[in-house]
Amino acid sequence: MAGEPQGDCLFCKIVQGEVPATLVRATETTLAFRDINPQAPTHVLVIPRLHYPDAASLAAAAPSVAADVLREAGEVAADEKLDGQGYRIVFNTGAGAGQTVFHAHAHVLGGRGLNWPPG
Ligand code: AMP
Ligand code: ZN
Repeated sequence: MAGEPQGDCLFCKIVQGEVPATLVRATETTLAFRDINPQAPTHVLVIPRLHYPDAASLAAAAPSVAADVLREAGEVAADEKLDGQGYRIVFNTGAGAGQTVFHAHAHVLGGRGLNWPPG
């Protein structure tokens, strides 16, 4: 069921402390941790603690938590001193767009030049 922990979900396991992660921020509703395979000098993932498969389902089912994820993405950028130079918040949605973990997450990327459009 949406919102319930999924036994086979890597990010639910991180929320439950069953898989380690390098946390950078935590709130009642969200966690932010460093991506294990960083694509930029700053590459942090912000996730809702509750399980939703992607950003749109999160926003539809729990809009206030979706807002928390976005606000925390901005706080990560500020903590990492990216707000002056620019950064990118990315929600890959669907396998065709590169989503590999089906628990909603925002990538916060910065600390280098970021091309537009992305590949
Ligand atoms: P996506 O491809 O958009 O679904 O993003 C999933 C991200 O999770 C990728 O950037 C992975 O590098 C990252 N990732 C996978 N396993 C872990 C882990 N154990 N800890 C932190 N990040 C992870
Ligand atoms: Zn999950």
